[in-house]
Amino acid sequence: MIPSVLPTYSRAPLHFVKGEGSWLIEEDGRRFLDLGSGIAVNVLGHAHPALVAALTGQANALWHVSNLYEIPQQQALADKLVAASFADTVFFTNSGTEACELAVKMARKYWYEKGHPEKTGIIAFNGSFHGRSSAGIAAAGSEKMVKGFGPILPGFKHVDWGDHDGLEAAIDDTTGAILIEPIQGEGGIRPLPDQCLRGLRALCDERGLLLILDEVQCGIGRTGKLFAHEWAGVTPDIMMVAKGIGGGFPLGAVLATEEAASGMTVGTHGSTYGGNPLACAVGNAVMDHVTDPDFLETVNRNAGLLRQKLEGLVAAHPEVFEGVRGTGLMIGLKVRVAPADLVRAGYDALVITVPAADNVVRLLPALNITGDEIAEAVNRLDAAATALKGA
Ligand SMILES: *Cc1c(COP(=O)(O)O)cnc(C)c1O
Repeated sequence: MIPSVLPTYSRAPLHFVKGEGSWLIEEDGRRFLDLGSGIAVNVLGHAHPALVAALTGQANALWHVSNLYEIPQQQALADKLVAASFADTVFFTNSGTEACELAVKMARKYWYEKGHPEKTGIIAFNGSFHGRSSAGIAAAGSEKMVKGFGPILPGFKHVDWGDHDGLEAAIDDTTGAILIEPIQGEGGIRPLPDQCLRGLRALCDERGLLLILDEVQCGIGRTGKLFAHEWAGVTPDIMMVAKGIGGGFPLGAVLATEEAASGMTVGTHGSTYGGNPLACAVGNAVMDHVTDPDFLETVNRNAGLLRQKLEGLVAAHPEVFEGVRGTGLMIGLKVRVAPADLVRAGYDALVITVPAADNVVRLLPALNITGDEIAEAVNRLDAAATALKGA
């Protein structure tokens, strides 16, 4: 008999009942150190007082009104994102997937209005993840994502990560945009080198293409800058954001330049919930924290500490770990064991990690994790690795 919850996930038998900062408390009282943050979502940890205050304050005033009316919390959040980024304009969604939908629509509408309705093509990359909608799975293109769900949304071509010649060859007169994660998340924490992102920007300028960045996982302070592309010193035309921006409340956004967004006029897109008062109240509180230069400096300092300790962990357990990669607090441990086995050994050692593709276990802690918590987390990972070796 089919479970009452549609069985599309393989779930660990853990029932968390409370969260405090970087800690998750199980029904039975065990305290887990959370290095997953609900997959890069709880950027300020669990139950951060400022987020609780923003949420409950708004809950007592007004939850939802629809986008038929002006929403001051949404306006304030858009102003903050515009002030802090390359973007001139923002559309709010409820998820990363919906941000992907709009990014694709926006790029196509741009070329349509420019008199190039043939430029519907989008080049994306193997190993990427852009969500589970028809556009999202078409953009990722992997068999795992699309098999059985055809007909697949047309217009996407895929090239290998790092295949410059393949990328050049894939561009033709129907290409309108390039879509890429600056750091592949689900794909196994594979950072695009800064010079490659600069090269992509130059290529887009040269060939007249829109550059769409998916910063759903790597944005909002995760890498130690507000957005990951800032490390390379170049900007996209369109960017998808979600996960961290709501700090745990479902919220996403598409940020764009005025030029790239020029086709999106009244009536061309919408969302019932997108940018509602409750979501934006929390989003504003998140932004107030993560845009503080002191906050980002602490992220970078803690990232350095974690990285150093993880290099030691890898060196201590060469049979379990192959290496450590990533940027800021978006870390991948490349493992020589099955990633799921290390994640499970982590549960026994009371530390939460997240598996990814390419034999990687992800560490995506809250951005305000403390130095002591980092030390304890690595101790617990050490215990997990030791237990695996003994198994
Ligand atoms: C999680 C993720 C998405 C999809 O976001 P949802 O909120 O799950 O719809 C898209 N792109 C990237 C890079 C992601 O990590």
